[in-house]
Amino acid sequence: MNIILLGPPGAGKGTQASRLVHERGMVQLSTGDILRAAVAAETEVGRRAKAVMDAGELVSDEIVNGILSTRLDEPDIEQGFILDGYPRTAAQAEALDRLLAEKGKKLDHIIELCVDEDSLVDRITGRFSCCKCGAGYHDRYKLPKIPELCDVCGAEDSFRRRPDDNEQTVRNRLAEYRSKTAPILPFYEAKGIVSRIDGMAPIAQVSAAIEAILER
Ligand code: AMP
Repeated sequence: MNIILLGPPGAGKGTQASRLVHERGMVQLSTGDILRAAVAAETEVGRRAKAVMDAGELVSDEIVNGILSTRLDEPDIEQGFILDGYPRTAAQAEALDRLLAEKGKKLDHIIELCVDEDSLVDRITGRFSCCKCGAGYHDRYKLPKIPELCDVCGAEDSFRRRPDDNEQTVRNRLAEYRSKTAPILPFYEAKGIVSRIDGMAPIAQVSAAIEAILER
């Protein structure tokens, strides 16, 4: 089973993707995570991408298509993959079609998480996560039980915030989603594989809605 989770930043794609990794053994392919790792490792790609990411704009199609193509060559994708944060432009959607055709793979579902944009800024600017295990937290909705200690892995002082989770950058990221990513939906609708779910519902309800689609 290969799926795309689509939705603006903060819609819950990462949360749902990591649940699918743990519960279904699927592989999460997040171009944002791969780019952040490249920035941290100061690779050539990381150096080219950093300023663009900090501004909340989209990294070039050439760079992200290259990253994804390399990632799709790894054998673990046979377990089924979840694309999280890719494709984000029409050119990426077309490149993905070509890459999958070359590799003899297909997409089973595109799931769009529909959200109220005004709530996203609040969701995103309050979020932080454990850099050891990836567990997600929020200043207002989900604080760790003991301050500075991760509930999941027990790591101390391991919380970090993404540099692009500030209000101005979030607004740019939402604008990029509206102008470049939302318009690719009709491309997938024409293939008859798009489902929409309410991304504002509680996490467990969003998970149940996704499971219902995957069981179809
Ligand atoms: P994300 O973690 O998906 O929110 O991505 C963080 C940032 O990485 C985005 O704001 C973009 O600057 C960049 N990025 C991630 N995926 C893509 C993509 N598919 N196309 C262009 N830029 C991307």
